[in-house]
Amino acid sequence: MDVSAHHPARPNAAPGFHLTRQGNTAIIALCDGSLPFPLDKLYLNTTPEHVRERLSAHRQELPAPGAFNAFLIVQHSHVILIDTGSGDLGGPALGQLAGNLQAAGYHPDQVDDIILTHLHSDHFGGLIRNGDMAFANARVHIPKRDADFFLDPAQMAKAPAPMKPHFKNAMACITPYADVGRVTLFNDNEAPLPGIARSALLPGHSPGHSGIIIKTGASDVFCWGDIMHGDVLQFEDPDIAICFDVDARVAISSRKQALDLAAQKNCLVAGSHIAFPGLGHVSRHQHENAYCWHPVAFENSPE
Ligand SMILES: [Zn+2]
Repeated sequence: MDVSAHHPARPNAAPGFHLTRQGNTAIIALCDGSLPFPLDKLYLNTTPEHVRERLSAHRQELPAPGAFNAFLIVQHSHVILIDTGSGDLGGPALGQLAGNLQAAGYHPDQVDDIILTHLHSDHFGGLIRNGDMAFANARVHIPKRDADFFLDPAQMAKAPAPMKPHFKNAMACITPYADVGRVTLFNDNEAPLPGIARSALLPGHSPGHSGIIIKTGASDVFCWGDIMHGDVLQFEDPDIAICFDVDARVAISSRKQALDLAAQKNCLVAGSHIAFPGLGHVSRHQHENAYCWHPVAFENSPE
């Protein structure tokens, strides 16, 4: 069979949602798309040779496939979206969240609350569709430190050129919700949704980057945002940072804190840039200052 002739104009995989249950909670990973990550050029505190060697040991090539995931949390009839994907801001490979949300059986109007881990475009761009609110009934919860930073024109003026779009886009995507009184800021480690979702300030990737911890009646679900890019190097060596970090030194310390928390509490981790569905557990490596990632198994069975 000529494999190259097989569905040449179609995506190479589907579907883009994955449901897992924990206690009283359904966690639905939503794929927003993927992009090649040239990790040998993006990682800091390492060498391109080391990156290539470790990925090769895990049978991965460069550029590595870079996942973009968001997570729908459903408790009884309460529907919460953790991050929104890129919407129209990330090019044609991204912005698939809206379609995958519908494929998972949810309409955007059903989303009650959106909690953003941080204000980077690949996490908030999906707030807007054709210039209007994509989630007509949702309240948007934002870490106050990130709002103070990214929604401040004075900070935008000072930012390096590659960072400026995050500021401009954040203002454009959040303003329609703010105009109708649907934006709430949460302080460091505050609970955006008391009794359901609390936050853990894990700064460095952005000033207010926060993990969102969901109470389920069983182990917690830990939506840790951008603590990891990829699923090999930064687990093996949490001191490896990524060039997107606003403050790499602080991001490294947050990564270690998040890994310790996930390993000790045996949380179900939900990671934005870990191979889809980005859900799994963390354990501490026996001999080194390293951690192991244990992805959930893919399941496809009738509910
Ligand atoms: Zn991200």
